[in-house]
Amino acid sequence: MNKQEQLEKLNEVWASTCPCGLSTNATQAVPGDGSVDAEIMFIGEAPGKKEDIEGLPFVGAAGKFLNEMLQSINMSRKDVYITNIVKFRPPNNRDPLPNEINASRPWLEAQINLIQPKLIVFLGRHALNHFFPNEQISRVHGKLLKKKMKNIPVENFFALYHPAAALYNNSLREVLLEDFKKLPKVIEMIKKGNE
Ligand code: URA
Repeated sequence: MNKQEQLEKLNEVWASTCPCGLSTNATQAVPGDGSVDAEIMFIGEAPGKKEDIEGLPFVGAAGKFLNEMLQSINMSRKDVYITNIVKFRPPNNRDPLPNEINASRPWLEAQINLIQPKLIVFLGRHALNHFFPNEQISRVHGKLLKKKMKNIPVENFFALYHPAAALYNNSLREVLLEDFKKLPKVIEMIKKGNE
């Protein structure tokens, strides 16, 4: 099995066995989208209505904005991997509960361990706080964060405001666009540091 097939298999197995309890109310799992060889992995919170219907993450208005930002740095969804902390839409788009998040964590960890991205980018404060519980997005957005964590073979993290939050807030939108444009340089810096 090549790496892409391994990722598909991993997602297939988890989609039918995830003990998170969210699958009963969802149309289907939304495991992730993009390349198994991605250097950047984006992590959002949870699938919404459109994602639940299509089985793909970030395909609604926030996703369209994410695609535009990727384009602004000459990248596309095919160059990165996009996923969420929980892989099923919570009922009525409520926030995922701590036990649902914890039960989904090994799935996310398995994805990270297979893909081995150079950088994990959090989309929004929920994703940030899943890995950095004591940080505030208003303080750390747009900055490279370093941390060693059990079961996570990545030490470089970067937080962005959630594209949905920035959609209707012009000042947040400007900040998000500026932060996003830093990504190519951040990746270069990480690669240089590893030489
Ligand atoms: N918001 C998220 O956090 N994830 C999605 O997949 C879509 C919207």
